Amino acid sequence: MKCHYIYTQDGLKVLIPGCMAVAVSGDIQDCTCRNELTERQFERKEYNDTVKALRKEIKELEEENAELNHIIEKLTTKWKKNTKA
Ligand SMILES: [Zn+2]
Repeated sequence: MKCHYIYTQDGLKVLIPGCMAVAVSGDIQDCTCRNELTERQFERKEYNDTVKALRKEIKELEEENAELNHIIEKLTTKWKKNTKA
């Protein structure tokens, strides 16, 4: 749970810390709750980052493959011309 305030029956405002930063300082300004990912969110982020990195790698390999195919094609054409002569 994120840091929040509760009000007692006496009308007192009481800070309920949700993160270590606020638990230590007692100041909600130091709250880091929004930056903290739950374990599930973290795993999901990790997963998405990995998928993204792999997709990028695939794209680069496809580009390299296309480039190499182009070179092979050129060389084959050259070789065919040379063998005919
Ligand atoms: Zn907090």
